[in-house]
Amino acid sequence: SRKWSRAMAILKEFEDKCGTPIVKLRQVADAMDVEMHAGLASEGGSKLNMLISFVDNLPTGDEEGLYYALDLGGTNFRVLRVHLGGKDKGVIGQEFEEVSIPPNLMTGSSEALFDFIAAALAKFVGSEPEGFHPPPGRQRELGFTFSFPVRQTSIASGTLIKWTKGFNIEDVVGEDVVGELTKSMEKIGLDMRVAALVNDTIGTLAGGRFYNQDVVAAVILGTGTNAAYVERAHAIPKWHGLIPKSGDMVINMEWGNFRSSHLPLTEYDLALDAESLNPGEQIFEKLISGMYLGEIVRRALFKMAEEADFFGDTVPPKLKVPFILRTPDMSAMHHDTSSDLKVVGNKLKDILEISNTSLKMRKIVVELCDIVATRGARLAAAGILGILKKIGRDTVKVGEKQKSVIALDGGLFEHYTKFRECLEGTLKELLGDEAAETIVIEHANDGSGIGAALLAASHSQYL
Ligand code: ADP
Ligand code: MG
Repeated sequence: SRKWSRAMAILKEFEDKCGTPIVKLRQVADAMDVEMHAGLASEGGSKLNMLISFVDNLPTGDEEGLYYALDLGGTNFRVLRVHLGGKDKGVIGQEFEEVSIPPNLMTGSSEALFDFIAAALAKFVGSEPEGFHPPPGRQRELGFTFSFPVRQTSIASGTLIKWTKGFNIEDVVGEDVVGELTKSMEKIGLDMRVAALVNDTIGTLAGGRFYNQDVVAAVILGTGTNAAYVERAHAIPKWHGLIPKSGDMVINMEWGNFRSSHLPLTEYDLALDAESLNPGEQIFEKLISGMYLGEIVRRALFKMAEEADFFGDTVPPKLKVPFILRTPDMSAMHHDTSSDLKVVGNKLKDILEISNTSLKMRKIVVELCDIVATRGARLAAAGILGILKKIGRDTVKVGEKQKSVIALDGGLFEHYTKFRECLEGTLKELLGDEAAETIVIEHANDGSGIGAALLAASHSQYL
């Protein structure tokens, strides 16, 4: 029918606009490399903040003692206790608790958020056995993973530049987040010291390095997306401090804010951005990360419903609700292997209240998921190539046998199999066979929590 062909035309146009041929991906990688240089050259020199982490030494594997970590950066936050065994012993014990953040706290007041976190931390510490209590006069020490853009002022302090990922608490922007947390801990008499303030990318890099000394970068693909890597301190013109003994400085790229004319942006992406909490910001993140992929699919489906009566004469009301289609549901539909696409049918019914969908329609929905996931995964691979270019590890030098490991973590990478496979395949394709053999993508399962504890250990006041 005419309506069906109109729907197919919308789909086809969307697919074309989302296209990521290799040439385009190379342009994206080159642009990333250029922006990295610019962001390192001067403060505000690029959309990429290229934040200096104050981490100039990564774990060696010999760290020892009992340390805590706190991970705040998305929908959940976690409290961990990590027991490090010292030389060659690794992590000998680890307990954690996960608490979901009440949505009202994500856009409320600073005090309410940090009081809530401090209370959860106090509860965790309060329930631990005698054996874990520090000796008299000694404080517990904490690595605080805070996964939002922070301008660090030292290893254990830093001011929030802006919120991302659905958080929006105005009175914290420009404030020292460690100061805020410390205030809340003191209020309830919790005697704990923040020894390190890190981003989840930095934590993942540190956690990855603890197990594998070839780790050179870390990438998070979860609710949001970001990357960190090890830079040579002398290659950071904006760094006016002393050159550290190691010669290295870890950089938190804040790559979610990358943007380039080479990015394949569609009308749906522009509308999503315009209606978001942070218009004009985090454009790369809005193409790639878990918070947004399902929403892009919803927007494309909505257009097909509105302009081509894809679901009948009226637009299903639920389809109008922003963020109703979550990425885990999109992923479930994308991986549906049943011959009648039962999962797709059920998701459409349960989430969007659209019943009686035909197999033909369900196939189109799967195709939309594929278009959006493929674009995101391929762009993420291009971003990784950009980092490898920046550190000169995208090609193999004669006689050199270096390995480079990229630690990856985040719910999207971990659970969205097709996304992960596409990312890995694309990176191989971009590198070519020979170079691809020297690059390893490693899933760093919750490296960020352990990483923060490790950094607390190496910055302990008792060393
Ligand atoms: P965060 O990024 O919030 O710190 P995670 O790394 O656990 O936390 O990532 C959670 C995100 O991962 C979710 O917001 C969601 O977008 C994505 N995700 C979780 N499970 C799945 C899944 N099964 N399929 C696709 N994406 C998923
Ligand atoms: Mg996280």
